[in-house]
Amino acid sequence: MKGANAGMNGLMYIGGEWREAISGQRREVRNPATGETVGSVPVCGREDVAAAIDAAHAAFRPWADLTAQERSEPLRRAFEILVERKDEIARIMTLEQGKPLAEAKAEVLFAAEFLRWYSEEAKRVYGETIPASAPHKRILVIRQPVGVVGAITPWNFPVSMLTRKIAPALAAGCTVVLKPADYTPLSAVALFRVLEDAGFPPGVVNLVTGKGSVVGAEFLENPKLGKITFTGSTEVGKQLIEGSAKYVKRISMELGGHAPFIVFEDADLEQTVDACIASKFRNAGQTCICANRIYVQDTIMDRFAAMLAGKVKALKVGNGMEPGVDIGPLIDWEALEKVEQQVQDALSKGAKLEAGGRRYVREGLNGAFYEPTVLSHVDESMDICSVETFGPVAPLIAFRTEEEVIAKANATEYGLASYVFTRDLGRAFRVSERLEYGIVGVNDPLPSVAQAPFGGWKESGLGREGGRHGLEAFLEIKYISLGLNG
Ligand code: NAP
Repeated sequence: MKGANAGMNGLMYIGGEWREAISGQRREVRNPATGETVGSVPVCGREDVAAAIDAAHAAFRPWADLTAQERSEPLRRAFEILVERKDEIARIMTLEQGKPLAEAKAEVLFAAEFLRWYSEEAKRVYGETIPASAPHKRILVIRQPVGVVGAITPWNFPVSMLTRKIAPALAAGCTVVLKPADYTPLSAVALFRVLEDAGFPPGVVNLVTGKGSVVGAEFLENPKLGKITFTGSTEVGKQLIEGSAKYVKRISMELGGHAPFIVFEDADLEQTVDACIASKFRNAGQTCICANRIYVQDTIMDRFAAMLAGKVKALKVGNGMEPGVDIGPLIDWEALEKVEQQVQDALSKGAKLEAGGRRYVREGLNGAFYEPTVLSHVDESMDICSVETFGPVAPLIAFRTEEEVIAKANATEYGLASYVFTRDLGRAFRVSERLEYGIVGVNDPLPSVAQAPFGGWKESGLGREGGRHGLEAFLEIKYISLGLNG
């Protein structure tokens, strides 16, 4: 059934065909802003996942044997088609995920950049020669694709987290089976229509929709699958790391974060407040790199808190389809309750409410909306300082010295993104070098780009996505020792 997934009722894409699950089961997809059903997708069983892995396995050798130039061409076409369809795909994303339409469009364009960048980088998988220790020998090092890749992605970035995995995997010569999050499968279906139209051979890219635990189990136990690349919570990531031990399966993990956002007294306050809003409130605070602990030097705390609260009160909450909306719904009621608990816990331990702090209720909106919130007088005894906040709450913590704030910022098991705001170049270097994080934004609240390595230290992950480092994740190194006398 070619192209049969038009509209909002998606199908899975396996071996170049659009298919129902073998069981025939489907599930509805809901709009988190209104609670309405926006479409449906199949619910796969392990047998569907195995069929997708078979298709990817059959397609692997011919795809890997193409020249890098040949592999780069459909990637480039996919970039162009995705850009052409940005409005249509952004609309689907807002309907099933809730983020404001302008943010959804920006995400689609960001997602497209991975296709463009890796269409170029596909041609740069270089090898090495190493001086040998005997005159009649030569040492060569080549890089080869790891095989069939199983990719699992989260709901908070329903298109860009997919291309950030698919594009480098295909560029490296791997084939892919992807499982999107249960909340946002329709954006994935729309992306796979782009990949189909870009002309990838059947089996090179495959999409299965269904439960993470079912797909994860097949990925871990199917010997035809060479690598698992996962973006999601640290909790699920740890389960996959444990499961991968049985067959020593290759893994890459992009996990949770708890980003410190450090504001020194010499920072440009107006710009830093805007940067803080961009980092904290994008996607209603549901991003892995958004500011989770905002450390402000004590000399400027009162001014910073007042400026931030003033601007936060002006943010518009609502359905992401309405023009001018800054903050959409949280993904579900459980997410809202977690945010409420964190705010209540902080207030009960002495935090002060500077803005927000309640559910946002309006007629016609049945989703889980929370007012953008600013809390001051926050300290380490409060849950919000250690548990990832996936919501629109900005906790402000005062500090005195550089040493003190570095120690506080590093006192977490997470190590994904961190931010430093200062106009002192020496301090910018000193603090960046001491932060135990994979990413440091110096006077930059939005550091994610296609060409740079994105990933976490400590329990925030293993490996990198983006840039040339992101390609390495899909390559094995092979050393060839060549005797010249044979
Ligand atoms: P999640 O609950 O871990 O889910 C992520 C994906 O894993 C979903 O596709 C989910 O499928 C699947 N999954 C669930 N249980 C599984 C299992 N046992 N085996 C295999 N797969 C399983 O995370 P989320 O709530 O969607 O996303 C939010 C988290 O992702 C946050 O912690 C955030 O920080 C992190 N994140 C990290 C990055 C990064 O680059 N480091 C980027 C974005 C998000 P179902 O939907 O079917 O449950």
